[in-house]
Amino acid sequence: MRKQWFVVLLISLCYSVLSIACAESDANNPNAESRDTAQVRASTSRAASATFDAQRAFAILKKQCEFGPRPPGSAAHIETRDYLFTELQKYANSVVLQPNQYKTGKVTLHLNNILAEFGPPTSGETLLLAAHWDTRPFADRDPKPENRDKPILGANDGASGVAVLLEIARVLKIHPPPRRVVIVLFDGEDYGRSIEHMFIGSRFFARNLGKWKPDYGILLDMVGDKDLAFPIERYSWEANRDYTEAIWRRAATLGLTPFQHRLGDKIMDDHVPLIEVGIPMVNIIDFTYPYWHTVEDTVDKCSPKSLEVAAMLVISIIYDGL
Ligand SMILES: [Zn+2]
Repeated sequence: MRKQWFVVLLISLCYSVLSIACAESDANNPNAESRDTAQVRASTSRAASATFDAQRAFAILKKQCEFGPRPPGSAAHIETRDYLFTELQKYANSVVLQPNQYKTGKVTLHLNNILAEFGPPTSGETLLLAAHWDTRPFADRDPKPENRDKPILGANDGASGVAVLLEIARVLKIHPPPRRVVIVLFDGEDYGRSIEHMFIGSRFFARNLGKWKPDYGILLDMVGDKDLAFPIERYSWEANRDYTEAIWRRAATLGLTPFQHRLGDKIMDDHVPLIEVGIPMVNIIDFTYPYWHTVEDTVDKCSPKSLEVAAMLVISIIYDGL
């Protein structure tokens, strides 16, 4: 009996010492607090993912297409600019237009990048999220020659990336992010017949960064295709291999199967001018889209489910980091 009591006493004593030791080690252990912080972040990330509404994103894609083709110089281009600016104002800390008068031949284009800022302004790092909001003035890849001078609707090529980012803007308002996020919607991406007169907005943005530079970024282009496939874009990978692979690994962790762990083509796009000024920038793009630069790039070729794929990845990076 005595012996049993002694054993019980010894066990409880050991337990108490162990508890104190644990309590002390928790108090002195910097990881203890970061564990809690990590848990809070993980639950915010889950809540933010659940807040993203693919149907709302798809409605934003449709809304842009209802303005009609949106090439620079058209009335629809101005209407779309005002719509995007007004929508972003509902959610962002601040929204500004970055005007750029671009002369080509006898034409002067009045272009505007649209920038919206979210999250703590003094945070240690800034994530840049980009898409282009203009559409191509001519369907030069259309199988029918009579369509090749007509403007494209750009449901996927333009509207899809913008739709995802606008819906993410709403999520950011509801769940303030732990890091600074800047959304930039580029103008004049798809303007020229040759590459010389394309990516006008992103080149202008890259030239005018001044002292400020985002730490890393993600470009979304053609992310709405019903039949979705995202191989690793090769320019992004060659410029910043670790960063690019980390993004595709995250997609795998999240079970986003359209992200394929294989190298795809080099695709000249808005991320290249930013890479050239030293910003690690990844292009998430499905370039196997049969309606690219044709008059058939319409709403029926896209789906809410596809928009959600890129969104889930971006939301995870916003809230969990990489
Ligand atoms: Zn295009």
